[in-house]
Amino acid sequence: MMESKQTHIHIEKIKLLYMHSFIPIILSAVAGLFLVAALWKLADRQHLLIWFGITLLLALVRIVIISRFKQTNPQGRKVLQWESPYAISLLLVFLSWSAGLIWIMPRDNLTAIFILNTFSLGLAGAAISWYSPLRYLQMASVSLALVPMIVVLLTLGYEQTFWVGIAACCMYVSCIITSMLLQKTFNGNLELAYDLEKAKMSAEDMARTDALTGLNNRRAFFDKARLLFDYCKSNQQPVSALMLDVDHFKNINDSFGHASGDLALSCLAELLKNNLRESDVLCRFGGEEFAVLLPNTLVAEAEDIANHLKRTMMNSTIVLAQENLLSLTASFGVSDIGDNLEDLLSHADKAMYMAKNNGRNHVMKYPSD
Ligand code: GH3
Ligand code: MG
Ligand code: MG
Repeated sequence: MMESKQTHIHIEKIKLLYMHSFIPIILSAVAGLFLVAALWKLADRQHLLIWFGITLLLALVRIVIISRFKQTNPQGRKVLQWESPYAISLLLVFLSWSAGLIWIMPRDNLTAIFILNTFSLGLAGAAISWYSPLRYLQMASVSLALVPMIVVLLTLGYEQTFWVGIAACCMYVSCIITSMLLQKTFNGNLELAYDLEKAKMSAEDMARTDALTGLNNRRAFFDKARLLFDYCKSNQQPVSALMLDVDHFKNINDSFGHASGDLALSCLAELLKNNLRESDVLCRFGGEEFAVLLPNTLVAEAEDIANHLKRTMMNSTIVLAQENLLSLTASFGVSDIGDNLEDLLSHADKAMYMAKNNGRNHVMKYPSD
């Protein structure tokens, strides 16, 4: 079962974020190291080391969270629980960069100020590309990277920093527009992928389901029944087949019309489904003929099941159009003889024809006693 489209897309976005998170963490730690090197002679070294220590610690926390996600490998809606740890840890990292850059900034040194501004612009660029799956995270991290720096640049009192601050504002506006465009493309791609997956699943389903009754068709039946047959044989369990063919069905079409015949077949399919066990594999074998594989079932038990179905059919009435009532009967054949599925079914089919020849509305087994 697939989740609703929007939930599914949200889950895919979270998975994508986790999938590609190690690289930006490593890169930001390396960038932090370069920043310390660049400012070593220009800023307070104690501040630099404290800030770098906090940045490394947060990077470590994120590595642990992401590793746990990969180990746990959550599926479906469970992925949603991993959104908050990701978002909170990411925002803490950006907060440490944002507040950190301002904290370590020597206000009287333009070179240091411009070095720090370069790093905050780089940080914003990285946020736009790495966190594009979730727009709120992307915008929050870009804002943390740029807004405090812009405010400081505009209010420091130097003419040079003022104009650089204005340029950083333009960069911020461009980030907001890029984020909107990226989000649109991103959602479009994920929606397309979801629609294709849905279409594929429904095509596969249709290829294995009988359109009138909703039962397995022959193809699905042979796939499932073969697995079950082989399982029973290799575990020394008995396995039986049951075939049934509705009696004089042609008369029903002739008397009430083809649409009533269709209705009768779908009611019969429902009755069969409701009176068989969960483990039995039922299919519409063709026309008005149905086949069932009965795992872990001796032929005597299969006979009982067939007799029960026969009685239930006789006691049920189908309400057709114009209040016409109809009761179906069928001829049943059962067998547990066969080295392979095809032989087993052909023996049950033989028994079913014997039931027809015996006057119909009968259960016969192969070999007969
Ligand atoms: P018998 O007791 O010998 O089985 O008689 P019968 O009339 O059931 O057997 P026959 O094979 O002569 O006819 C089967 C009929 O089932 C003919 C066909 O038109 C009808 N039939 C097969 N599939 C469908 C279907 O999907 N819908 C309807 N309405 N009729 C169908
Ligand atoms: Mg028939
Ligand atoms: Mg038939």
